Amino acid sequence: MITKKMMVLIILFLLLLTGCGSTQNADDKRADQNINIVEINDRNQTLSQNEAEDNQESDQLEQNNTEDKGQAEQAGAYYVNEKYYIKPINKDDDEKVVLLTFDDSPAGDSTQAILDLLDKYNAKAVWYINGYYADKNRELLKDIHNKGHIIGNHTWWHENLKKLDPEKTRQEIVSINDLVEEVTGVRPTYFRAPFGVYSDEAKKVLKEENMQYMNWTWGSLDWELKTAEEIEKNVIDHVHNGANILFHDKRITADALENILQALTEEDYKFVLPTEVRIQD
Ligand SMILES: [Zn+2]
Repeated sequence: MITKKMMVLIILFLLLLTGCGSTQNADDKRADQNINIVEINDRNQTLSQNEAEDNQESDQLEQNNTEDKGQAEQAGAYYVNEKYYIKPINKDDDEKVVLLTFDDSPAGDSTQAILDLLDKYNAKAVWYINGYYADKNRELLKDIHNKGHIIGNHTWWHENLKKLDPEKTRQEIVSINDLVEEVTGVRPTYFRAPFGVYSDEAKKVLKEENMQYMNWTWGSLDWELKTAEEIEKNVIDHVHNGANILFHDKRITADALENILQALTEEDYKFVLPTEVRIQD
């Protein structure tokens, strides 16, 4: 900026010199010079003003950029990466976090018990719902949404997507989005396939629906372990920063959950949600 200003001054000064014709007398020259100096000063003022405005504009731009950046990299913003870990968008964010997910929901009684425990520990989760449950438990679906959790799509009938034809695949996925949107006003953006099995056709539909699919990084094994204590141990012993933990909406899980939430809280884990969708190929 200073260089620009100096250049203009030099040019104006040269113009001034050229402007002072040899026919003019010394007084005239001085008078002209004075006028020119005033003009230069005026010009300088205008330049400074323009410069200030320019600076203001660039400040504004910078501010806007910072705001954009701030929004994208604000503390507490997370995404689920291609390996299904939950990661902070701002890399300097070093809090220990886990993502809790509950599949095959909303099953009924266990849903309420799990919701209450999550409230108690100020934890949010992704609930992967099935149509055959959600259709008859619409109030629970609404509760989950109203409590600030994320409702994800786990297909209507929980079938292996690899065994379905294209039409049925589309139906299994889109029907859930329609139902959730009807009940909560929000269309799901996260998807988990039954058994974690995806087909190319399913991925095509997910892309059309602007959905991110995600499996998990650690299974609670609440579908095969026989006691709540075993589930607790399996989760607490293996928890890691960024873990995306798979639970199911069932009684045994609700029984194990309090000790798990307690232990993880003591280990300074925060239970967070992804804040942006990343569409995969
Ligand atoms: Zn499932």
